[in-house]
Amino acid sequence: MLDLLRGLLELALPAACAACGAGVEEGAALCRRCDAALPRIPRNLCPLCQSAPATDNAGPCRACAGASSPLAACVAAVAFAGDVETWIRRFKYPRRGIAGLDPAPGAVVRALVREAGARAPGPPPALVVPVPLHPRRLRARGFNPAAILARALARDLRSRSDPVALRRLRDTPSQTGLQRRERQRNVRRAFVARDGLRLPARVWLVDDVVTTGSTLAEAARALRRAGARTIVGVCAARTRAAISSDAGPPCRR
Ligand SMILES: [Zn+2]
Ligand SMILES: [Zn+2]
Repeated sequence: MLDLLRGLLELALPAACAACGAGVEEGAALCRRCDAALPRIPRNLCPLCQSAPATDNAGPCRACAGASSPLAACVAAVAFAGDVETWIRRFKYPRRGIAGLDPAPGAVVRALVREAGARAPGPPPALVVPVPLHPRRLRARGFNPAAILARALARDLRSRSDPVALRRLRDTPSQTGLQRRERQRNVRRAFVARDGLRLPARVWLVDDVVTTGSTLAEAARALRRAGARTIVGVCAARTRAAISSDAGPPCRR
């Protein structure tokens, strides 16, 4: 029942700024002032790590070009910090009962992932796939936040989302505080595509927050094994640790 209500509220747009209550432009979740205060990631950065400057023609930085990522790009709109962190936490961990149905956090985070989608290079994808939760975690939480974001993107693009295209085989421990190499080991072979799944060439892979990109890269490998060729990671936010401090004023610590 709560799930159904949540689905309906996804379609509802707040009439006022979710943060301060001021008037908003039609369809916007935040007023201009609150929106402008979000820690946006500069646009001139590497399309894979959003950390080093991009090379000519918006190409990947040297480190990313040499690392042969299974992702064509991995874009987020804002840094996971300050108010963004609060909105995403409220979206991912709604309070129990009626209080958890507040549509504001969902509206803000969906707006952020849409903005990330607008930064994605290339034509729109035929399919949008969320990074899945492990079944145990999905049962405990009741919903997959990434699946809600994937559905919102697919609706905008008039494409489709497939929340069960990938399965998470291992309930990987939290990635927080791990070194890059440990994270990669942590998620190796953590995902598998649904049996018999044949994917279109272009797929967007969606998550709420990207940290080092190890999880997205591993999920992208599973999509490639199922036939996808060009996979773009689209996330609402990126942790600050992953954005270099010389990337420009919006991301300076
Ligand atoms: Zn506001
Ligand atoms: Zn890079």
